[in-house]
Amino acid sequence: MTSDICESQHRGNPLVSCESALSQLLMRATPPRSAEPIPLLASLGRVLGKAISLDRMEPPLPRSAMDGFALRSEDQEIPRELLSTVYAGTAEVPMIGVGQAVAVMTGGTVPPGADTVVPVECTEVHEGTLFVQEMPLAGRHIRQAGEMGMEGKDILHAGQRMTSADITAAAGCGAKEVQVFPKPRVVILSTGDEVVPWDTIPALHEVRDSNRVGVALQVESFGGFVVEQTHVLDDPEALESSVADALAIADLVITIGGVSMGQKDHLPEVFASLHVEKLFHGVSVQPGKPVWAGCRNQQFVLGLPGNPISSFVMLEIFGRPLLNQLSGQHSPKLPQPQAGVLLTPASSRKRPRYLPATSSVQEDGLIGVRVCEESGSGDWSALAGANALLLLPPRAERHVGDAITYLPLG
Ligand code: AMP
Ligand code: MG
Repeated sequence: MTSDICESQHRGNPLVSCESALSQLLMRATPPRSAEPIPLLASLGRVLGKAISLDRMEPPLPRSAMDGFALRSEDQEIPRELLSTVYAGTAEVPMIGVGQAVAVMTGGTVPPGADTVVPVECTEVHEGTLFVQEMPLAGRHIRQAGEMGMEGKDILHAGQRMTSADITAAAGCGAKEVQVFPKPRVVILSTGDEVVPWDTIPALHEVRDSNRVGVALQVESFGGFVVEQTHVLDDPEALESSVADALAIADLVITIGGVSMGQKDHLPEVFASLHVEKLFHGVSVQPGKPVWAGCRNQQFVLGLPGNPISSFVMLEIFGRPLLNQLSGQHSPKLPQPQAGVLLTPASSRKRPRYLPATSSVQEDGLIGVRVCEESGSGDWSALAGANALLLLPPRAERHVGDAITYLPLG
């Protein structure tokens, strides 16, 4: 009986599924309205607020795709008079007439009159005369003028998070300055009387503030900007003033700890007194069940449970998509589950489970997934080496060799 109550509610709130909790959260989050200009080379990881388009027809002239000879295919295999050499960057090119050809290097303009390029390895030259060893075909080895697109064609679209490949394409467009959405501003508050700075030596009854370090890095990797992070004691007044200060400057406030069943878990009351509307408190998931989420207009609060694995997993499940949406990013917002093969046994109880794991390609080409050994959701050592989360449905018993799904991290 007791365990059934545990599985259906948290502090009087009905447990909701991860999927429904996430959609409630994302439904409330709107993308940023305005974009700001930044230099292209500073745009890695930023989300485009405006499309980037071709500033001229590309390529503007037909270009050779091979080192070879440009000529008329119509003249078939007759020997040809070689007029000159066109290099990549040669501005002036001759007209090709009947029985004529030019040597052309990759990227060089294919002269008017020529309609094909014969690669150098299919030719011979004797005393200024070119002999082709195969029948030339019209259009071969030529990048036609405009084949990439006409001036004004969008190459990158608003809502794309810029990768190095995108920046390469934007550089091709000559986009010195690009419009990007502002990064969501995030304040991180770790809580707990027992929590001390991670780079100090804790007393036996204390723990290092390791979560805050990881949460800040996760936030940055999801496209957020950590404007401030600090630690707060389990004191209702201190918590209230810290959360109020955070709400004065943040798009998203992330708290760590203090949302569970303990006598010093004050945050739900603090959020309520600051008029943060609760979206959910309690999700049917292991670990992370006590997770809290709410909003005040377009500001969001994510209350992560303090256990290190819970905090890590809940930020991955809720924080990543929320930050992607607040960044203005279009799809894909979520890492897609991948298929793998289990290398260590794993099981779940009544709730769906996410387990830190390592995934790697095996000799047979399949992805092997090994669960990181953990002694519970407080076992931060299980995060070492994790590059995936194994996904288990409720009441699952999986054995070595079973097909499973996992989420890749990072
Ligand atoms: P709580 O959610 O506040 O009940 O905390 C659950 C567990 O997580 C407790 O054992 C805490 O000591 C631990 N914990 C809370 N915050 C942190 C943190 N920032 N870093 C590491 N462990 C933490
Ligand atoms: Mg606590």
